[in-house]
Amino acid sequence: MELFKPMDKQSNSSANANNQMPIEHVKVLIVGSGPAGYTAAIYTSRANLNPVLYEGIQPGGQLTTTTEVDNFPGYPQGVTGPEMMEDLKKQAIRLGADIRFGIASAADLSKSPYRVTIDDEKIIETETLIIATGATAKYLGLESEEKFKGQGVSACATCDGFFYKGQDVAVVGGGDTAAEEATYLSGLCKKVYLIVRKPYLRASKAMQERVVKTPNIEVLYEHATKEIVGDVNGVTGVLLSNAKGEKVKKDITGFFVAIGHQPNSDIFKPWIDTDEVGYIKTIPGTSKTNIPGVFACGDVQDPHYRQAITAAGSGCMAAIDAERYIGERKF
Ligand code: NDP
Repeated sequence: MELFKPMDKQSNSSANANNQMPIEHVKVLIVGSGPAGYTAAIYTSRANLNPVLYEGIQPGGQLTTTTEVDNFPGYPQGVTGPEMMEDLKKQAIRLGADIRFGIASAADLSKSPYRVTIDDEKIIETETLIIATGATAKYLGLESEEKFKGQGVSACATCDGFFYKGQDVAVVGGGDTAAEEATYLSGLCKKVYLIVRKPYLRASKAMQERVVKTPNIEVLYEHATKEIVGDVNGVTGVLLSNAKGEKVKKDITGFFVAIGHQPNSDIFKPWIDTDEVGYIKTIPGTSKTNIPGVFACGDVQDPHYRQAITAAGSGCMAAIDAERYIGERKF
């Protein structure tokens, strides 16, 4: 039985005879709508590849949860995260990208053309797939943390640290990210408390040494965060409990969560090589995965930099890699 209608070169719909899900054929499917996804959409649109982009669970990606973005080149006055993402989306649409609301719920990358199911109700069959699904910062799960997100609670010191210049802040976590964030903040802030739940840091020896040698970082070992307190203007303090079960309060205005990220790669894992955390492996210097025609960009493949500008740069790489792949295969 024929599952698919013969493919046309442009976007084209048919019905899946087996399960009645409609099937649409495209040249370039982009999954994810952070700076990586939109940049890939901008470049592939300009290359006349008629990309279709599905925005995913959080349209605009992680940047929509931050306030000011001061470090993206080209915005002399800074810009808010949601505004910047709206600008990127408008630019992609102006150039012809087909931006759609929908979540990639399953994938079949066993053979080309690849298939991605959207919202469990439609299949997109694509010649090239650009995975730009990002990563989700882990949070402690406190109600007060949720309440003050964007008002003193942040998961990115490089993005938001500047707004706490000269103030007292706290970082929670004991890995390399937490050590790096604490060190970064120590150059901006008066005092940085590093809240670590164990009696030791998990960070690399070199990072640990930097933390311990920095005079304005105080490591609070065996401390658990109980509550973040604040008022209408944002965070004013954090309540902790120490190893003896005693309550400890620290006055702070910024609370940085650095307990790890989870790359959003689950549906692709049966086919795509990832590291032990789930970050997609790409061939160094490219966006190529282990599957020809499937490319990854942005935070889903980047445990190290995780910046809007590096994500955008890698989105550009994925678009160019996809364009060359299509050119070489002459679809
Ligand atoms: P990690 O998973 O390495 O560390 C997470 C830290 O957060 C651990 O100390 C963990 O504590 C703590 N933690 C987790 N959940 C909670 C919680 N609920 N309450 C309090 N603390 C909690 O994540 P990272 O983001 O630090 O690093 C991810 C990977 O990226 C690592 O492989 C790291 O080496 C790498 N990396 C490398 C960098 C570099 O080379 N420059 C920079 C940044 C990251 P516990 O130890 O008790 O489990």
